[in-house]
Amino acid sequence: MTDTLAARDAQPTSGDKFRDALLVGAAVYLCSIFGILTSPPGDLAAYWPTNAVLLGILIRRGRPPNWLDWISAFAGYLVSDLVMAHSVFKGVLLISTNLPGVIAGYLIFSRMPESYRTLRHPRAMPRFVLGVLGASTAAGTSGIFVHPVLFGGSHAYGFAFWFCTELVSYMGILPVLLTMPDVRRWLKDHRRRADWPSWKHWRLDHFAPLLAFAVSLGLGVHWGGPGAILYAVPAMLWCALTYSLFATAGITLFFCMWTLLSIATGLLQIGASVESPLAVMSLRVGLSLTALAPLTVASVMVARNELLERLQHAASHDFLTHVLNRSGFLTQAEELLASPQLLRRPVAVLMMDIDYFKKVNDTYGHDGGDQVLTTFAAVAQTCLRSGDLLGRLGGEEFAVLLPGCSAPDAQVIAQRICDAFAAHTVTLDDGRQLRNTVSIGACCAPRIENDIAAMLSAADAALYRAKESGRNRVELAS
Ligand code: GH3
Ligand code: MG
Ligand code: MG
Repeated sequence: MTDTLAARDAQPTSGDKFRDALLVGAAVYLCSIFGILTSPPGDLAAYWPTNAVLLGILIRRGRPPNWLDWISAFAGYLVSDLVMAHSVFKGVLLISTNLPGVIAGYLIFSRMPESYRTLRHPRAMPRFVLGVLGASTAAGTSGIFVHPVLFGGSHAYGFAFWFCTELVSYMGILPVLLTMPDVRRWLKDHRRRADWPSWKHWRLDHFAPLLAFAVSLGLGVHWGGPGAILYAVPAMLWCALTYSLFATAGITLFFCMWTLLSIATGLLQIGASVESPLAVMSLRVGLSLTALAPLTVASVMVARNELLERLQHAASHDFLTHVLNRSGFLTQAEELLASPQLLRRPVAVLMMDIDYFKKVNDTYGHDGGDQVLTTFAAVAQTCLRSGDLLGRLGGEEFAVLLPGCSAPDAQVIAQRICDAFAAHTVTLDDGRQLRNTVSIGACCAPRIENDIAAMLSAADAALYRAKESGRNRVELAS
């Protein structure tokens, strides 16, 4: 696959590299301080987000990390340890267990195709799990050597402890960072106030899955017991079926952090001791596996929705000219005419038929005719506003719906299409050039009429008169 992070490498300036490295260091520092604050006295963090956040940033940034990034990350880890009164020796040893997982994770995820990395592929989750297992295994392998030195215990325990800690952190945090929308692109696409999502489309029932999630977490705290950890699973699956992949990833992360921290602080009583290292590891692995269910559902939903969108587009568009086909045009026209915003507004319909098209086919072949059709669709589109509908009804016949357009305006637009096409020279693939004309019939109504078929047939009658009167002209329906 060509679409790997290395292939997307742009050419950043040294200023960009320095700024990015500072951001990496700052993120590592802040996450580490948060992690250390979650540590019970004398123990390692209850939730350690730093390595997963660092890995997510490096993957999302779109270019391979350089030595500045690694130095900055190293400094972020070390300074946070020193600020929290750990010794330099301990800090350096901890870094040597933190970084291998990040490096292994980067090597694995940066080689995945984009659709897998962003979890938008039906088979993305198994690869994601393999990537997370690889990163956690690298961290566990360092734990084999470092953990006994720092905290005592066997080498096997060192591996298991670091593996489980990293597993729950990567499984919760990475999906959020990998599926997060590109903020800069979003701001660019939503520069105008009119492009912002409107709260008017929000309905109360849209919040029901989130409410169910909050209620199930509350029930867990209220009743407790070993099953309390799983109370939120159905609500999370409901969220996965309702919300975006990014939102589901956020909810899953919240679930993991909430469960770990509320058990550590005693808020959530699961009726069993989670003090023994084995119980802590079991809890972390269990949470990681629980998080997989909503993430898998949301990932498959995204892949399914994108496939449906593609199918819908293929079913409603003409494969040659890429404008709407007959059924797509009629469906969208009916929807547009029924919309309350167009009530009491004028509307116009144009029927357009390329002149002497049979002769084009006879002279230049079917391929030449196809190129004329494509050119006509493109020329007509440039004469229309963004809310107008253009469709190919069949052969060399096209139709346009102009919502909110009065009769004089419709005539101007129709004449503009007529003149633009007549003035356009089509250059065929073999270099030959030709010009064509189009005849247009227009039907205008001072108020929206729901019957698109009646308007099309009136426009067709006007088109017939345009042909009769010599072609390359516009006629209005009486
Ligand atoms: P008029 O000026 O009266 O409209 O004459 P015309 O020759 O354009 O009209 P007519 O309806 O007789 O011919 C339309 C031709 O369009 C006939 C058909 O072979 C051709 N045609 C239909 N679909 C396609 C297509 O997808 N590609 C090409 N190249 N030709 C097509
Ligand atoms: Mg025709
Ligand atoms: Mg024709």
